[in-house]
Amino acid sequence: MSVSDCIFCRIAAGTAACEEIYQDEATLAFMDINPANDGHCLVIPKEHFESVFDMPPSDFGTVASTAAKVARAVNDVLRPGGINLTPANGEAAGQSVLHVHIHVLPRRAGDNLLMNWSRDSSDDRRFDSDRIAEIAERLRSRLRG
Ligand code: AMP
Ligand code: ZN
Repeated sequence: MSVSDCIFCRIAAGTAACEEIYQDEATLAFMDINPANDGHCLVIPKEHFESVFDMPPSDFGTVASTAAKVARAVNDVLRPGGINLTPANGEAAGQSVLHVHIHVLPRRAGDNLLMNWSRDSSDDRRFDSDRIAEIAERLRSRLRG
């Protein structure tokens, strides 16, 4: 796959839209378009690496550092019961977008979330773009402060 075919590269380049919440020189954080739970967001390296197997470990550390920063903001703003920080690497691990990303995944007691959470419940208010934008604004404000 070429970089121009990669949706996360296009988001990093600003040629595809996202609900951005944070960026620095090497990383970008934005809301997941099909959140598993409220506040579900993604942290990516701006540079294209398909998976952790293709990436210098220290570069993954840079992405993990941003994920920790974003997770603290999500925790402060939304007060979930816990947060999973989860990268998928390879199809068998459930990776659907072949550009390294860490899921910042708020968890609530009894949410019964499986690793392969549903992406297709079209009537679910989780997927409402106004709801996602409202949560993004609260996280942006926290990350600025
Ligand atoms: P994975 O299946 O672990 O590779 O995760 C990919 C994630 O990217 C899924 O949770 C998708 O909902 C999310 N996703 C795919 N395209 C976009 C997009 N254009 N903007 C935001 N999130 C996206
Ligand atoms: Zn990419």
